[in-house]
Amino acid sequence: MSKISRRTFNKKLTQGMAGTALLSGMPLACGMGAEQSDKKLGIALVGLGSYSSGQLAPGLVDAEHCYLAGIVTGTPSKASQWMKQYNIPKENVYNYENFDTIATNDAIDIVYVVLPNSMHAEFCIRAAKAGKHVICEKPMAVSVAECDAIIEACEEAGVKLSVGYRMQSDPYTNEIKRLVKDKVYGSIQYVSSDAGYISRGNPGQWRLNYALSGGGALMNMGVYSIQSNIYGTGMNPISVSAQEFSTRPDYFKDTDESITAQMEFPNGVVGHMFTSHNANANRLFCSFERGWAELNPCHNYGPLNGRTSDGKEISFPHKSQQMLQMDDFAKHIKTGSTNFAPGEMGKRDMIIVEAIYRSIKEGGKTIPLDLGTMGIVS
Ligand code: NAD
Repeated sequence: MSKISRRTFNKKLTQGMAGTALLSGMPLACGMGAEQSDKKLGIALVGLGSYSSGQLAPGLVDAEHCYLAGIVTGTPSKASQWMKQYNIPKENVYNYENFDTIATNDAIDIVYVVLPNSMHAEFCIRAAKAGKHVICEKPMAVSVAECDAIIEACEEAGVKLSVGYRMQSDPYTNEIKRLVKDKVYGSIQYVSSDAGYISRGNPGQWRLNYALSGGGALMNMGVYSIQSNIYGTGMNPISVSAQEFSTRPDYFKDTDESITAQMEFPNGVVGHMFTSHNANANRLFCSFERGWAELNPCHNYGPLNGRTSDGKEISFPHKSQQMLQMDDFAKHIKTGSTNFAPGEMGKRDMIIVEAIYRSIKEGGKTIPLDLGTMGIVS
């Protein structure tokens, strides 16, 4: 029997399953044996910074469909500490140079890229070429062109792609989506969303370094505001105009400090967003024909909190958003269930980010958008 690379195998498997599903009418990936769909998928985290260590690794401890199988780090001392703490075998530990050899490691099903933004595209593409499913942290990349390159690499390799949008697996987000979709308080009229925090400390940190971040508050926190404006209306904007503000230009030398943007949605629905590296802001407000709903706090790791105009509290038992997010993606791979944060959602948000930066450059000009239903997952 001729040898087949994992990459070719993944591609053929995806195509084969799609074909079988089309012929039989069964949902995609139902052809996977029960044994395979019961298996926990192995995730390798690339970059062991604060998000990996504080949120993702702890989230994986309790996950049902995936587990922390491997790590990719440039720091040998971190490698030994993580191996001990999470019982990771030596053969599942990589550095940035030998990372591509992960292709031959069957213990790793998913590579999760948790590096500074400008490194996402390179490592997601290398992961796809190694035949691994990919989770790319937000923002997906530093340009639409890079998002395209990641999507193309994943399609070419026949692997699944998701963006690290934890809010898309969060019950509070889903409750807002339900209120919008079911028109519980009538049609949505206006949405407003704020996401920001006060950046202090080392002005040389990568988030304030354009070459590594691709932008400031908008790239870091603004994508949350963009996301919640969209799920708070259930629609993509048809135009955007934006303004930039700075009160600490000595600190924010290289990247944007605060941005406001106005979005126009179909049917004249209005959206407003604010994002900042110099103001604490964490709220979503949806105004409907016959009432309103608010999440405050809205974008942090939880517990979140919310309320509606008729005095109801929006409240759910707290669970790790990261655990829910990674479990959802693992389930998507195993069973063909919904991918709640596909690559095209990350690309759509980057199209909006680029339009916002363009509007600012052109003095607040309204930039038309032609997104259709791109990246809307219901
Ligand atoms: P961090 O600075 O804590 O960690 C970055 C990691 O990248 C470190 O392990 C560092 O050693 C490594 N690295 C490799 N090359 C580097 C370089 N040239 N410069 C700096 N670091 C380098 O950052 P973080 O907070 O863990 O963020 C990583 C990614 O995760 C970012 O894309 C960020 O937007 C995203 N993130 C997402 C969430 C979320 O809620 N989804 C939260 C935090 C961070």
